[in-house]
Amino acid sequence: MLSQVVELIEHKRFFAITSHMRPDGDSLGSSLGLYWLLRQLGKSVEVIMRDPAPQAYHKLPGACEVRTTQKVDREYDAVFVIECSDITRPGLENLEEQFVVNIDHHSTTALFGTVNWIDSTASAVGEMIYNLCKAVGVRVTREIAECVYTALLTDTGSFHYSNTTERTFKIASELVRAGVRPAKIAEAVFNSYSWNKLSLLSEVLSTARQDASGRIATLRQSLAMTARGGNADEDGIVNYPMSVGKIEAVAFLKEHEPGIYRTSLRSKGDVNVARVAEKFGGGGHRNAAGCTLYGTWEEAEEKIVALLQEAVERGAGAQHSSEPEELGQPQETVV
Ligand code: 5GP
Ligand code: MN
Repeated sequence: MLSQVVELIEHKRFFAITSHMRPDGDSLGSSLGLYWLLRQLGKSVEVIMRDPAPQAYHKLPGACEVRTTQKVDREYDAVFVIECSDITRPGLENLEEQFVVNIDHHSTTALFGTVNWIDSTASAVGEMIYNLCKAVGVRVTREIAECVYTALLTDTGSFHYSNTTERTFKIASELVRAGVRPAKIAEAVFNSYSWNKLSLLSEVLSTARQDASGRIATLRQSLAMTARGGNADEDGIVNYPMSVGKIEAVAFLKEHEPGIYRTSLRSKGDVNVARVAEKFGGGGHRNAAGCTLYGTWEEAEEKIVALLQEAVERGAGAQHSSEPEELGQPQETVV
C-alpha cells in the first residue's frame, strides 16, 4: 500500500532500486524518477540493474548512474523492485534476502515483497511514482518529470493504448508544467535507432507472414540476424505489423538458442494475449505479453498462431466496454 511505502521512505535511509532484465521506458523512467525523489529527501540510493539501459533511454536524467550488476552485493534498508511479475524478473542474485518493496501496475504480479504496492489502474508505474511524490511532499523537479513522462509515453504507446486515461493526460500535463518538453523526449526515445537497428528491422520485417484469416501476423528473428545486427535491440519491432488495419495480433519469435524462442505478443482491443502467454508459462498485459516457445520454427509458430486465432475469435465476440480499459486490470475468466 502507498501509506506503507511513504512510512518506509520516511524511516529508512539506505535504498536500492531495481527492475526487470532488459529494462524498458517504464522500468527505467520509474526507477530513475524514484531515484530523484529519494535523493531530494537526502536518502542514500542507487539504481542497480542486471542489463544496461538501451540507447533510447541514455538521455534520461540519471541514466549514466545506473549500476549494472548480477547480484545484490550490499545490504540495503530496502530494495524497491519496479514492475516485476515475480522476484526472479530482475535477474539479481541474493535479492530475496533483502527487504523488498514490490511496486507494480500489473494486477497479475506475485506479492513477493515485504511491502507490496500494486495499482492496476495506473497506465504505467510512472503514474504511481508521480503519486508518491505528492504523498511524500517532494517537488516534481524537471529530472523527475522527464523520467516519469518517459514512463508514461512508452507504456501507453505514445498515448495510443487503451490504458491511456484522463488521469494519464492530467499527470502528463503536470509534467509538462514541471519542465518536460514533449518533443525533446519523443526525439530521444523514438529517433534513437542506429543504422544496425534499421538493418535488423528490414531483415525481421522480411519474415512477416499473415495467417489464412489475415488477422494474425508472425515475425522471426534468427540467431544469424541477431549476430548481423551487432548490438541493435529488437525493441518496438513487434509493433510494425499492427499498422496493418486488419491485423489483430502479432507474435514475434526471437531465437534465443536453437529451438528456444523468446516471444513477444501484441494485440488490439479485446484480444487478450496475456491469456495466451500464460498458457506457455509467460504473462503480461491484455494487449502486450510475452512467453518462451520451443521446437522448430514451424512447430513454435503453429502452436502460438492456433491460440492467437482462438483469442482473436473470443475478442471479436466480446462486449466492448464503454469505459477506457486498463492494461493491467483483472481479467475475466476464460470460458
Ligand atoms: P515484451 O514483449 O515487450 O518483452 O513484453 C511485453 C509485456 O509482457 C511486458 O509487460 C512484460 O513484462 C510481459 N512479459 C514478457 N515476457 C514475460 C514472461 O515471460 N513472463 C511474464 N510474467 N511477463 C512477461
Ligand atoms: Mn509498465
